[in-house]
Amino acid sequence: MKDVYLSIGTNMGERYENLQHAVALLKEKKEIELIRISSVYETAAVGYTDQADFLNIAVHLKTAISSVEMLKICQAIEQELGRVREFRWGPRVIDLDILLYNQENIETESLIVPHPRMYERAFVLAPLAEITPSPLDEQLQQAHDLLQQMDCEKEGVIFWQPFNEPSIVN
Ligand code: AMP
Repeated sequence: MKDVYLSIGTNMGERYENLQHAVALLKEKKEIELIRISSVYETAAVGYTDQADFLNIAVHLKTAISSVEMLKICQAIEQELGRVREFRWGPRVIDLDILLYNQENIETESLIVPHPRMYERAFVLAPLAEITPSPLDEQLQQAHDLLQQMDCEKEGVIFWQPFNEPSIVN
């Protein structure tokens, strides 16, 4: 089984429900075993800043499927939740990124892992650091080390609330 870490973010509509819905859809897949889900963090938008604040979580899962198949699942969930995105860095109902895939370095046209911007983003590293097992592998150690050097509050990343799985998702 491969260890996979995802980052999930949303800044449109019912943000918390969007996260719960995305997690429920992941959980539904028989190929995926959800291991841990981080708390929810609220984050001021980066890049295009004239948009609503994001909610972000990180998820640890185990799966036997390939990284390409995992990306397809993430994209299918984005589609199902009706992701509408007019421009890069703009608002989105839900965004699922593969942060790490079994300590591999992947560089194809459709997929780059470790995610190219993860190490500079406190809103990715803070939830990720919460759910990492020990001992840390090299990539996770790097994530922890870089987070230590960041000031989350200054970066606009604040603890929002624990993540509670919904009993029913419409
Ligand atoms: P965005 O939704 O802005 O994060 O970008 C989505 C695009 O990034 C898709 O076309 C993916 O093929 C590509 N991509 C490259 N690396 C990754 C990754 N690690 N996780 C998710 N999408 C990725």
